[in-house]
Amino acid sequence: MLGKSNNIKKFLIGQESTDESARLQFDKGRLFFMTPQLLMNKMKLDEKFPVPISTFSMLVLDECHHVHGKTPYNDIMATYRKAKNDSQEMKLPQIVGLTASPGTNKAKDESSAKEHLMKVMTTMDVIHLSTVRKHKENLQEHTSEAEQVVLQMKVRKRNPIQDKLESSISYVERKFNSEKVQKFLDINMQDIHEVKQSLQNTPVQKMEQTYIQWITETRLKVENVLNKDEFVPRLLLTYLRHLEIYAECLEMNSLLDKQAVVDLITAKSSDESIQSQNANTIEERDILKYLEDVCTFMCSLDPQQVECNPDVQEIIHWLQREYEKQGDNSRFFIFVKTRATAKALAKQLEYLKNLSCQYFTGSQVGLEDGGLTKHKQLEVLNKFKSGVHKCLVATAVASEGIDIPECNMMIRYRFTANEITSCQMRGRIRTAGGKEVIIGSEKENLRETINVERMVLMERAVDAVLAMTEHEIREKINKSEQLLFQSEEVERKKALESSKNKVVAKFKVNCRKCSKDIVEGHNLRILKGSLHVVFDNSIFGRITRKPIKHIVTEDIKLTDKVFGECGHEWGHINVYNDCELVVLAQKYIKVYNVAKQVPINIKKWKDVPYKIESVDNDDILAFRASQLPTPE
Ligand SMILES: [Zn+2]
Repeated sequence: MLGKSNNIKKFLIGQESTDESARLQFDKGRLFFMTPQLLMNKMKLDEKFPVPISTFSMLVLDECHHVHGKTPYNDIMATYRKAKNDSQEMKLPQIVGLTASPGTNKAKDESSAKEHLMKVMTTMDVIHLSTVRKHKENLQEHTSEAEQVVLQMKVRKRNPIQDKLESSISYVERKFNSEKVQKFLDINMQDIHEVKQSLQNTPVQKMEQTYIQWITETRLKVENVLNKDEFVPRLLLTYLRHLEIYAECLEMNSLLDKQAVVDLITAKSSDESIQSQNANTIEERDILKYLEDVCTFMCSLDPQQVECNPDVQEIIHWLQREYEKQGDNSRFFIFVKTRATAKALAKQLEYLKNLSCQYFTGSQVGLEDGGLTKHKQLEVLNKFKSGVHKCLVATAVASEGIDIPECNMMIRYRFTANEITSCQMRGRIRTAGGKEVIIGSEKENLRETINVERMVLMERAVDAVLAMTEHEIREKINKSEQLLFQSEEVERKKALESSKNKVVAKFKVNCRKCSKDIVEGHNLRILKGSLHVVFDNSIFGRITRKPIKHIVTEDIKLTDKVFGECGHEWGHINVYNDCELVVLAQKYIKVYNVAKQVPINIKKWKDVPYKIESVDNDDILAFRASQLPTPE
């Protein structure tokens, strides 16, 4: 849009921009477009050429409600506050924030909604609040309120798949009562006792999110006792994996039709067979055989016997009805919660040839889990705009920032949103006569009602702030900005202290699932502040790789998944400066204190209480040189 103003030099700072080229661009350009995270990275003091905030005369924060909470926008503004406090003469940029809804942060009344709005303004150091007043009618001519239809989800009368999955879950859960397992659980040790308690408190409802949560928590507890007895903890982990498979299939079954469940359980069961190649005990073989039988049962179910999912039928009904009205102008969005659902639903809707449904998901890690590359995302959106695809099944990733004025129907399927997302999603529909169809459980639909109430509170809060004098606002904001700055100073000091307090100790990193040694602590390095790299060439002889579709972020390229010699996943191959590095994922490893012979409980890499050395460019080059065969 700004392309026509030729007297302004414009730059799109992309992820591929190197330090030097970005700095050069900042020197030459006048107008820059970039993500907040990228700007934050360029401003970091440990960059070779940090870009000071005073470089800019104005910062426009689009979707500025993201300034609330731990976000890159907030990080940028914290840098701004620090600069403002450090030097009175520093020239700071004017901040302009844009949003369709600043949100209320779950406010229950007008005064707390107003408080939140003032907080958002404080974080951005913004005094003037501007909203359409004078030309409201004019605005309404250009936008139109979508008609909203809220429907309650329906359940099938007979449900053989659900019955089978529920009985499978009971079957696995009963295994926890076996003599071998019970004998182990009776050992008088704190960490084993915790596992026992967890297993005694199995949630009754298997269909709720709490069940999956319980599995995750119990798994963590079992992993903590892994060192003591090989057999039972490993068996418990296997049982928990199987429970997770059945629970995920249960959810899929409640959302979609038989084929989606069959696809899911087939994929999971074949993964499980590979993972259990070394399963030598009767118990492990039994449970795998059971899973394979369930899988066969699902595949062989007569389609006539399985009732269609009534909610999916409802979606198809709406799609067909609106297509009859809109014809080639049809542009439909369906929002769902997970990538797996998006992919499976798009597949099921494939038979509606006129619509050419396509799924649209996020680009972050896990392309094999149904993610799209940035390139593919763009391609899909363009094809949607031009009408090749008339229906996209999307996850939350499409709910903001994507502007497709032609969209005339949005279906939210079992997708709960907060008031900001809800408002933004409605903003996707801008054509006259547009429709918003919401299908959810009673609880989910109640939340939507609350969202509407919060929107009203927010509008009242805006009115209340507009009624204040500029002097009043400035005074209030200055005061709370000071408080905010002080609390940030405390946080910064704490972070500095904790990095100083890290002790030198002999530790090692092991496979979380089987305790196999991965690397000695002194051979672990930190690259770019967060990547934990194995700096030991012997690692390459102890791993197998599985190539993935490359993921590129800034100057790092992910090329392979890494599995240890034990067969368990350990992390990724990252290519940095043409050098292949094994980067460990925290969720696959555990840290072990060698001197004290105790495992260290960590939730994030940052929690490791020991010093880990950082590496820079030169270290990487030296490491790369050491990988090359020595010349003769
Ligand atoms: Zn392992």
